Amino acid sequence: LEQIDALSVKSFPLCMRQLHRALRDNHHLRHGGRMQYGLFLKGIGLTLEQALEFWKKEFIRGKVDADKFDKGYAYSIRHSYGKEGRRTDYTPYSCMKIIMSNPPSQGDYHGCPFRHSDPELLKQKLQSYKISPSGIAQVLELVKGMHFQLACQKYFELTHDVDDIGFSLNHPNQYFIESQKLLS
Ligand code: SF4
Repeated sequence: LEQIDALSVKSFPLCMRQLHRALRDNHHLRHGGRMQYGLFLKGIGLTLEQALEFWKKEFIRGKVDADKFDKGYAYSIRHSYGKEGRRTDYTPYSCMKIIMSNPPSQGDYHGCPFRHSDPELLKQKLQSYKISPSGIAQVLELVKGMHFQLACQKYFELTHDVDDIGFSLNHPNQYFIESQKLLS
C-alpha cells in the first residue's frame, strides 16, 4: 500500500492519482471507481492475490468488515481477473473509454479529471501539486478546447520535466509505463 502511495504521486495519471487518494481518504470507492482503478492496477502488474489484499486492507479501515468484504467485494475483484462468471479477462480502460462513458456523479471519483472536473477545482488541484502558474494556464487552455488527452500529456511533461514526451497519450497504463521509464 505504501509503495502504491509513492507510485501514485510520481507515476500515476491524474485520474488514477485521484482514485487512489479517494480510496485512502474514504476507505471506500464506488463501483465505477473500483472498476477503473482496479483494472489499472491489474495493468501495472498487481496479481489477483495482491489486489485482494490491497482492497481488503483499505476497505476494512472503513465501514466494511472482513466478512462483508469477502462476501460483497472479493467476488467482483476475482471476476475482473477472469476467475468468476464468464471468465472474461478484463483489460484496463483506455482514455477514450474513461472520457466518453459512464460520467461520474456526486460521490464518484472515477472518470477523467480533465474532462469531468470543474475547471476551477482542477486548477486548485494542480496548484496543490505545485504545477507552475504558466503550466496550469496551458493545461486549462487545452481543457477549454476539449483536448483532454493533450491536457493530460501536458501534465505529464510538466511533472516529468520534459519538453515533449514524443508519443500521443491514449491509455492510463501507457502513462504509467512511460513515467516509469523516465524515472528509472
Ligand atoms: Fe486518465 Fe487518460 Fe484522463 Fe489522463 S487523459 S487523466 S490518463 S483518462
